[in-house]
Amino acid sequence: MSSLTSAVYPPTLTDAETDHLINIIKDWSAGNGLEIRPPAAVIPAEADPKGIAAINAPVTLFPSPFPRQCFAQGLTVQTTYNELYAAVSRDEKFIEGTVNEVIEGDEFIKNLWAIHQKVKAEGYTQTLSLGLFRSDYMVHHDTNSNPTTFQAKQVEFNTIAASFGGLSYFTSRLHKYLSAREYPLLKNAIPSGMMELPSNNSILGLAAGIETAYHAYPPSDLGHTNCILFLVQDGERNVFDQRHLEYRLAEVAPQVPVFRLAFSEIKKHTSIAGTPKRQLLYHLPHQPGKTFEVAVVYLRAGYGPGDYPDEAAWDARYHIERSLAIKCPTVLTQLAGTKKVQQVLATPPPESEPSIIGQFITSAAVSQVMELSKTFTNIYPMDTSPAGLEARKKALDPKLAEAYVLKPQREGGGNNIYRGAIPAYLKSIPESHWSSYILMELITPPPVSNLILRNGSVEKGGVICELGIYGTCLWDQQTAEIHHNELAGYLLRTKGDKSEEGGVAAGYGCMDSCCLV
Ligand code: ADP
Ligand code: MG
Repeated sequence: MSSLTSAVYPPTLTDAETDHLINIIKDWSAGNGLEIRPPAAVIPAEADPKGIAAINAPVTLFPSPFPRQCFAQGLTVQTTYNELYAAVSRDEKFIEGTVNEVIEGDEFIKNLWAIHQKVKAEGYTQTLSLGLFRSDYMVHHDTNSNPTTFQAKQVEFNTIAASFGGLSYFTSRLHKYLSAREYPLLKNAIPSGMMELPSNNSILGLAAGIETAYHAYPPSDLGHTNCILFLVQDGERNVFDQRHLEYRLAEVAPQVPVFRLAFSEIKKHTSIAGTPKRQLLYHLPHQPGKTFEVAVVYLRAGYGPGDYPDEAAWDARYHIERSLAIKCPTVLTQLAGTKKVQQVLATPPPESEPSIIGQFITSAAVSQVMELSKTFTNIYPMDTSPAGLEARKKALDPKLAEAYVLKPQREGGGNNIYRGAIPAYLKSIPESHWSSYILMELITPPPVSNLILRNGSVEKGGVICELGIYGTCLWDQQTAEIHHNELAGYLLRTKGDKSEEGGVAAGYGCMDSCCLV
């Protein structure tokens, strides 16, 4: 396989240069908030009983080379993707179809769907819906074409708690800083101005999405001040990533209160007004007499079973869903983001039948739909349809399975089954549950090397990069009107090429930015 760069990249460093760059990055990260709370394995709780420690987020010493045309491809299709997922989330029948496919083996999806059903029965009082989306891609090297080409292929589309927009903004800036100040002074210098580092407005873009939703919510009938509420996980280590969005909101909309509340404390500190509109009221924990009306609820929690340890937690999600607050996301939008939906969208229609995508995005030019479809890779159902039975054969064959990843309907990393592990895994679960998975072809990006600074030490070697493009969308579930549809910057996440998973917070991956080649 050909590499992405002809020169040696990243440049070979002396030990002194490596130590110097480590110190520069440590300070820059602390100075600019490119930080996470430390894992206990790095700073044990006993060593930091007051919880004051923060460490720099794992990050590459250099921006990774990334094909210009793939980066452009991701940017080009994002607003069409926003529109597509807004339309999917409005198509209850379609979502119901995908839910029914997976429900037997998936209690979590079943519970989410039940919440939607319950709120639908009493009637949604809020028709606006906010999406802060991220579409993730890897580079596919097509060696069959002549000349060979690079294409961005979608890994997944995130509709809930799409993270790292806060840190990726600063990672792009860190690498820009290093390219101006440090790389030109290395023994194997990269002269200033030689690297094409695309600008990244992720914090500004995501915060603007939240702010737009806030302004779309009318002044409180009840005489309260409206606010924005971030729902977060207990003990979140990736807290600064979220805080950066808050800080941006404080800058552009200083009069708008923004609060953080643990998902587990929803019922303790919020209530629903006894009015037909069902306003969501937030009672300030340290001053319970003080009440705000929640205009926008932004979920950075609630995407996986871990956030729902008991019935009370499900009840809390229901409580949010039935309220008047604009949800980011609603249950339907969360369900639009399942791997099952992605599989159905990516499955080409039989000859002579119209494309599924075209049914959802009628306003888009045919060329836009074509561009979007080019980002699909092969994804198969694992049901008992002819295509599903074909996929089962592949998944159960140890040799054929090597080219695939098996995915359940889960978010947040660590849930997939890879390659040779697939057959034994399938045999370990009831066959009636197989339909709740999808089988996806593995994307194999061209080899890239880099150095990763993690917990103070540098790891060197082959890496795999995953591009995420953010998009924000505010739409009306009832009228289909789209009030806001924007591109919102990017994320590059990089992992060692020996690791299957790439989650930064989960400890597999690290922050990176693109050096376009
Ligand atoms: P999650 O919702 O848990 O983030 P993903 O579908 O993003 O699930 O998969 C997690 C990780 O697994 C990705 O970040 C990527 O590193 C790897 N992965 C997933 N699908 C593929 C694929 N088709 N080809 C190569 N790697 C993949
Ligand atoms: Mg992912």
